[in-house]
Amino acid sequence: MKFEASLQFARKLDKEDPLRSFRSQFYLPKVKGKPAIYFTGNSLGLQPKITKKFISEELNDWASLGVEGHFHAKRPWLHYHQFSKKALAKIVGAKSTEVVAMNQLTVNLHLLLVSFYKPTATKYKILTEAGAFSSDQYAFESQVKFHGLDPEKAIIELSPRAGEHTLRTEDIVQAIEKHKDELALVVFGAVQYYTGQFFGLRKITEAGHNAGAFVGFDLAHAIGNVPLQLHQHNVDFATWCGYKYLNSGPGGMSGVFVHEMHATNFDLPRFAGWWGHNPRERFQMKKGFQPMTGADGWQVSNFPIMSGAVQLASLEIFEKAGMSNLRKKSILLTGYLEFLLTSIENFNQHFTIITPPSKTERGCQLSLLMKKNGKRVFEKITADGVIADWREPDVIRVAPVPLYNTFEDVFQFYQRFKNAIR
Ligand SMILES: *Cc1c(COP(=O)(O)O)cnc(C)c1O
Repeated sequence: MKFEASLQFARKLDKEDPLRSFRSQFYLPKVKGKPAIYFTGNSLGLQPKITKKFISEELNDWASLGVEGHFHAKRPWLHYHQFSKKALAKIVGAKSTEVVAMNQLTVNLHLLLVSFYKPTATKYKILTEAGAFSSDQYAFESQVKFHGLDPEKAIIELSPRAGEHTLRTEDIVQAIEKHKDELALVVFGAVQYYTGQFFGLRKITEAGHNAGAFVGFDLAHAIGNVPLQLHQHNVDFATWCGYKYLNSGPGGMSGVFVHEMHATNFDLPRFAGWWGHNPRERFQMKKGFQPMTGADGWQVSNFPIMSGAVQLASLEIFEKAGMSNLRKKSILLTGYLEFLLTSIENFNQHFTIITPPSKTERGCQLSLLMKKNGKRVFEKITADGVIADWREPDVIRVAPVPLYNTFEDVFQFYQRFKNAIR
């Protein structure tokens, strides 16, 4: 599409947008009484208006039924982990038996590493991207130490080539081949939180498997943002955040994916709990853990109903909108943002977009590496009603989200940003 830098053109795109009605299903934050330009759905997704109804229903069932709600609530609490499966499976490209909602991301990452990081005397290394999200780094470091190993030796962090900001898939594949004999595990953030780069999951998984390693992904910035085919790509495991693109509320519900090929592998080490135990015997309180088949066998504690209700509200919207429609709009929306930003005269003197220009290598987020006065520009747009996010040392992340952002939002952002760098 040939874009134009005018408000009129942005409004025309909004009019033609088949998903335009979804915006009114969300609460949009205000700044000084006016609707904000909200570009931080990558950090905390907005609240759907139907969320209250979902929570109220659980509160009412709790009030009227007490413990009987486990069996007789509108959505019986005993089976709650099943209600999100279908929608989650579609979003990550999996079978419903391969996914389950539980816990939060870092906790899940630990549980999965317990199963899939099985270092031996020779094969004990984890390969990941340099500058991974801190929580992931801490998880890797502490897991390595838990096995009595030295993180300095056991963790390989890949950096982009000199002068480049993002990794090339061919370099990742080559590094995996190079460390073949010592690799136990390959883990990447599917969409890198800082640069917005969407990695080549299929190629990385293939290379990891050829090297005899397990391969997993942190989908914090990928789920609900980019198309995923975890089953088809033979990814061993993955986990995600519910509160970013999935709009499941602050600190909201995470979940895991475990590929079908591991569904009945009861030899994998696990940290067990009663909710992952054979449901026919769960309440017999007997000795001897028997894991459920599939992802369900990684559950530990009983299901948090309130968090789950918040997530179901959002998943209902995802079911209606459809990931492929969202992706179509997202490519246009972010493409328009990129077009406008790079149309600013001498933009190169002020900032570089470090997110890859190819649409297959990014989701909705663009990361703007500021060359001068970055923090001041950020403060200026913030005062001007933009909610974006600043990442030390010098990046402004902006994420127009196809569910609730408009082309007009993108245009308004561009004008305020252009003003601020002047
Ligand atoms: C947001 C994010 C997290 C947050 O972890 P929690 O356990 O949900 O607090 C972890 N990793 C990545 C890559 C993230 O983007």
